[in-house]
Amino acid sequence: MELACLDLEGVLVPEIWIEFAERTGIEALRATTRDIPDYDVLMKQRLALLDQHNLKIDDIQAVIAGLEPLPGAIDFINWLRERFQVIILSDTFYEFSQPLMRQLGWPTLFCHRLISDAEGRVVDYKLRQKDPKRASVKAFHSLNYKVIAAGDSYNDTSMLSEADVGILFHAPQNVIDEFPQFTAVQEFQELKDEFLKASDRDLSL
Ligand SMILES: [Mg+2]
Repeated sequence: MELACLDLEGVLVPEIWIEFAERTGIEALRATTRDIPDYDVLMKQRLALLDQHNLKIDDIQAVIAGLEPLPGAIDFINWLRERFQVIILSDTFYEFSQPLMRQLGWPTLFCHRLISDAEGRVVDYKLRQKDPKRASVKAFHSLNYKVIAAGDSYNDTSMLSEADVGILFHAPQNVIDEFPQFTAVQEFQELKDEFLKASDRDLSL
């Protein structure tokens, strides 16, 4: 039995915080873990900025609803779901990614949660667990699934290592160089080919 695990941002959809910063013009929201390595500090800053700009969860979702999946992503996920059980493992938040997940046809998503108060102010966030992508692959193995996984960045490498086959997709050159054990591809057609190669079944339909 085989599962396909995919990262979300950078693979199927754009980087949501970056796009959100661009749409709202709030430059400071562009900060990522590259600028502020402590994730909790970074998230607290993001939540404070949302509050300063009086952006409630509905406003945030309205902005994100204007974003689109990456070109070819909808076709790819539909293709993949015809051949594999697909689970998206992401470090995003359900409330944040919802408008994009709608466009992708609501594939299964394991991620984190934003916490809003009664007025819709985002007051906190809740991470599901530590190293959730690796933990998920381990759990799928305990259910006797073979896991084929694809992702684009550092936060995917523990998932790719834990998986039976790990594929880098759309990864920047520094990640490709640092993790030569993973096949790296850039186009959805190549990613399809890698999934077909990794599968034990004949899926060439
Ligand atoms: Mg990513």
